[in-house]
Amino acid sequence: MKCLICNSENIETIDTIVSDFVMARIAPTNKTNYKTKLCFCNQCSFAFYEYRLNKDEEKKLYYHYRDEDYQKLREQFEYGYTKEINNLLNTDTFALAEQKRVIKKLINDNGIKNIEIALDYGGNEGRSFFDELGSKAKYVFDISGARTVDGVINISSCEDIKKHCYNFIMCNMLFEHLSDPVSIIKQLNKFGNKDTVYYIEVPSENPFIKGNKSLLKKKAELINNPIYNILRLYKYVLTLIYRYVRKPNFDFYKMAKYFFKTRKQPLMPMTEHINFFTIESMKQMIELNGYEVIDIQENPEKGVLGTTLVLSALFKKKSS
Ligand SMILES: [Zn+2]
Repeated sequence: MKCLICNSENIETIDTIVSDFVMARIAPTNKTNYKTKLCFCNQCSFAFYEYRLNKDEEKKLYYHYRDEDYQKLREQFEYGYTKEINNLLNTDTFALAEQKRVIKKLINDNGIKNIEIALDYGGNEGRSFFDELGSKAKYVFDISGARTVDGVINISSCEDIKKHCYNFIMCNMLFEHLSDPVSIIKQLNKFGNKDTVYYIEVPSENPFIKGNKSLLKKKAELINNPIYNILRLYKYVLTLIYRYVRKPNFDFYKMAKYFFKTRKQPLMPMTEHINFFTIESMKQMIELNGYEVIDIQENPEKGVLGTTLVLSALFKKKSS
């Protein structure tokens, strides 16, 4: 097996499965979960699942993302993923404001000005724009089928993307979901010119610390460690309490059943995030595919489910 980013064969793996929810979305008639491996590249510190969704499965998982059917199905497998939580995630204005703050920070820190035409690749309804970002035109390309908000123009085909000349092309919270991240970063190259500034934002959530080779094995041992399980239960109950402060319909029996079910599963079944980036692996992905890095930062962002760390990269085409 090779690293998806740097092609290194220096990979450590741990056995796991595709999660019940993802299985139900991509292959509803299959009774058994696909087996997969969680992989860690010792060369560039990129982590990923060996199982890659094909185009058809990717579409099944993301088409009408977080709509009513999505929520109902996910709640069957994930206790606590209620309609309310789904709505909060869909309309999390606080998280959106935080995302805009971080984009502005990267733009300002690097003196990027006059962003007249901007494209949000995979931008759903186009809610990540702010006034200065695409002051003349704001475009969104997305496969989810969502309707764009006022002032944002929807582009539905790759051919149509090429019809415009962009000062700024961004991809927010997309690369952690992509089956083939390298093909997409290569494709983005065709949509920009030598002055286009690119921006990628992903969660900074690599489950393996860079350079710590034994961490994977330690994690595997933790699954059978009673102290870790007590901590996990404690963390889980805290999360649930946090979730149910908003709507107290707490069902202890269902919660306990869900907990013991997840307890029996292997480490980190594959959910929607199939790629985990670090600063180093992000840098490698950018530089190995025809671009040069302007800046990469890690910043905290607040949202309905708490504060998360995000990785933001600003880059442009390599000058020849
Ligand atoms: Zn690698």
